[in-house]
Amino acid sequence: MLTAGYYTDLAASMDHVSARLQVSMDNLSPEDRSKAMRRVRSRDTTPELSVRRLVHAMGYRYRLHVATLPGRPDLAFPRLRKVLFVHGCFWHGHRRCGKQTTPSSRREYWLPKLDRNKQRDRRNRRLLRKAGWGVLVVWECQLKNPEAVARRIRRFLESPVGSSSPLLPAQNLPA
Ligand SMILES: [Zn+2]
Repeated sequence: MLTAGYYTDLAASMDHVSARLQVSMDNLSPEDRSKAMRRVRSRDTTPELSVRRLVHAMGYRYRLHVATLPGRPDLAFPRLRKVLFVHGCFWHGHRRCGKQTTPSSRREYWLPKLDRNKQRDRRNRRLLRKAGWGVLVVWECQLKNPEAVARRIRRFLESPVGSSSPLLPAQNLPA
């Protein structure tokens, strides 16, 4: 269960965070909370850094947050025409994942917000695939098993462009 304390800790762990962020998120106005969320999200998260380290150790070179690609993917491999997103389970709504727990308070604020995140992610993946990019999503919770993540990434990067995506293999199967 994510509590207000979770956000307080998150906020406190950041370098340039204002003192106002260190109070419970529940005490913030929706505007201030949006600001706080943007700040949390715009920073390099630990899961993202873990994935970068993994991929770097595998010998691949990548570009970060390419602004001209839909969703500014966390890692882009232009030569391979592939992108990789590292998604926090809460913000991006990982289904059937313990970290996705919806906050018990102010659900009327959080539910639409998290839903919009998911819709935006879906749209970005669609746009990327339409433009011929391979897309892989690594979820924060999967990093508990870095070896498995590394294997998945390697499979993804070594597969030919346009082959079925490890994320949604079913979508490329005949109906
Ligand atoms: Zn998850």
